[in-house]
Amino acid sequence: MRLRNKPWADDFMRENDHIVVQKPFECKENWKSIFENKENPLHLEIGSGKGQFIAGMGKQHPDINFVGIERVKSVIVGALKKVMDSEAKNVRLVNEDAEDLRDLFAANEVDHIYLNFSDPWPKNRHEKRRLTYHTFLEQYEGVLVPGGEVTLKTDNRGLFEYSLMSFSQYGMLIEDVSVDLHADEDPLNVPTEYEEKFSAKGQPIYRCTAKFRT
Ligand code: SAM
Repeated sequence: MRLRNKPWADDFMRENDHIVVQKPFECKENWKSIFENKENPLHLEIGSGKGQFIAGMGKQHPDINFVGIERVKSVIVGALKKVMDSEAKNVRLVNEDAEDLRDLFAANEVDHIYLNFSDPWPKNRHEKRRLTYHTFLEQYEGVLVPGGEVTLKTDNRGLFEYSLMSFSQYGMLIEDVSVDLHADEDPLNVPTEYEEKFSAKGQPIYRCTAKFRT
């Protein structure tokens, strides 16, 4: 992803604090209260990039509340524009590093986590950085409801196979697997920016959902 310095990014995010949460750590245990419909489930995307997925999901599922976390300021402003254009009222963005989700969310606060085209970290010595390494799964379990789910989409076969193994070794139930998502033609699939880019090059898109045991 090409990064351009955007000196206006801070002001733009502050001006739109109804979408970009300004003090996200203070929302821990109270995320539901920042949404209009506080009873709706909460879904989280880690590494939202320019926001096509989170904005599209918000529009497609008005009965779900969404939070997208993206650490790069010059990238999250793209997501902010997409959420604004979508007019979805159920999407919030957080400009933080999702280093440990347990700092941001309390136990049982999240219903579903999406990992879309996360960095694959192919070298063995970088295994710990993969967002499906078991220490990350521990974090996810720590904020998800019992039986909460994680959905991974990627173009990277190595990361996909590794993640299936990691979910399974952690004792999660693999619920849904596609090794060519676009050939499967899921009418509810909301493509991300990276997904469109890789798919246009003819690369298959892999997707799986894994559920923590209750
Ligand atoms: N999900 C988008 C898509 O599919 O088009 C973007 C994919 S891009 C390869 C990965 C994104 O995740 C980048 O924008 C990066 O800044 C973000 N990211 C990676 N690790 C993160 C973390 N720990 N916390 C927040 N954002 C992160």
